[in-house]
Amino acid sequence: MARDVGREAHDLLERGLDRQLRLAVTGLSGAGKTAFLVSLIEQLRHAGLGARLELLPAARDGRLLGAERVSQPDLSIPRFPLEAGLRSLSGQHTPHGPEWPTPTRSISELRLKIGFRPTSRAARVLDSKRATLTLDLIDYPGEWLLDLPMLEQDFSTWSAECETQLNDGRAHWAADWLAAVAPLTPDSEVDEDRLAEIATHYTDYLHAARRKGGFVDLTPGRFLLPGELDEAPVLQFFPLTGLTDWTPEALAALPEASLYRTLARRFDHYRRHVVQPFYHDHFRRFDRQIVLIDVLGALNAGPAPFRDLSRALDKLFDSFAYGRRHLLARLMDRRIDRLAIAATKADHVTPEQHGAMRDLLEQLLADPLKRLRYRDVPLKAFTIAAIRSSEAREVVENGERHPALAGQLLAMDEADPAVSPRESVLLFPGEVPSRLPESTFWNEGNFQFPNFAPPRIDGTAPPHIRMDAVLDWLLGDHLK
Ligand code: GDP
Repeated sequence: MARDVGREAHDLLERGLDRQLRLAVTGLSGAGKTAFLVSLIEQLRHAGLGARLELLPAARDGRLLGAERVSQPDLSIPRFPLEAGLRSLSGQHTPHGPEWPTPTRSISELRLKIGFRPTSRAARVLDSKRATLTLDLIDYPGEWLLDLPMLEQDFSTWSAECETQLNDGRAHWAADWLAAVAPLTPDSEVDEDRLAEIATHYTDYLHAARRKGGFVDLTPGRFLLPGELDEAPVLQFFPLTGLTDWTPEALAALPEASLYRTLARRFDHYRRHVVQPFYHDHFRRFDRQIVLIDVLGALNAGPAPFRDLSRALDKLFDSFAYGRRHLLARLMDRRIDRLAIAATKADHVTPEQHGAMRDLLEQLLADPLKRLRYRDVPLKAFTIAAIRSSEAREVVENGERHPALAGQLLAMDEADPAVSPRESVLLFPGEVPSRLPESTFWNEGNFQFPNFAPPRIDGTAPPHIRMDAVLDWLLGDHLK
């Protein structure tokens, strides 16, 4: 017992009065990263001033004193656009009222200093009544993590994987790219301009599969979200189909200037100069990580995109579950000590569906969760709404009570001034299956999740669902 108290005191002193934490937020685009970060920052800034944080003990006990934005340490990374997000949510400059923040498309960062009163025991040990936690928040696209397997692939294996995916319901979006490569074989000689043109067709295919098809397991991730590499030659390559017709020896014997060797060199360059540095410069420096997942959006998109999300998440989570033998173990000298996984936009469904939504998330992630647990990575799953845009209601019909949601629907094309104003609705969006659905589920048409407009947020903390529980898991132990 005495030893435990001694260790606790030692831990507290270690962390000291000015503690630091690097928390990274990721998710595939549209998962809700930007909304999540705006909400998280605003909840902390308004702690004790109207933010509802009952599930965060430091706030519940009145010890959380608020947060201030301070200048970030790494000046080469863009600032997270908090002000722009708040402007959109204030609805002051937009004809139809508050709008969702414009999503970030690359890595960005923001530093907060959180003030709090330590618990009475900690205050005694530290001999102080006030402490600060310096929180670095880093937002980056989950698409970048999908490139991880490329570190262990060569150009031929990657090409074969792309070909399999192409044949799983995506060829439709790839017609122009396939037509452009059709006349070529691995031994063709192709000039720079032509390669760049074909690479553009390949990138267009990835974008179309994403936007129109709802697919997410698409590589290379930077082709979709290039960040500072937009239009850079390092992004000018593409996979080759039909390589299985060639033996590895025949491919290796091709001249340097052949299509195959040129693309293989660029693939290698991309791995070494784009994928590896991301892990080396950023990823290995995160202490904690939250991964956001738009489970409801994937359900809405249909069976093939839903299966595809499951495959993409499997890959994405490998970044956190890397083992000793893994190449990454050499790239990183420490690992994330806490992981949160959250199904976002829970305000799209009525509250009694939240349990099913979480079960579905856990089913979707069954394999990666097993691997993470096996590697003893502490993790928790949540269902959240960063910015709650609907209110739970009940409607009574023939004497029976039914759950419903009240909110405002976003109009179809709000950029068009002729578009009619937002419509207030009261609806039941449908039931969330608590298990991975069979393909017949999509034929039954028993759900349609609405696209709600955000509430007006002006100098207040956004309403939310369980952001306080997430904050407790990610920060609570540092606010003692
Ligand atoms: P990002 O691409 O991961 O940064 O995603 P965003 O944060 O831009 O979110 C994408 C879209 O999802 C937003 O424009 C909203 O329409 C919706 N969204 C995000 N968070 C919430 C939420 O908490 N509730 C609701 N109803 N919609 C949300």
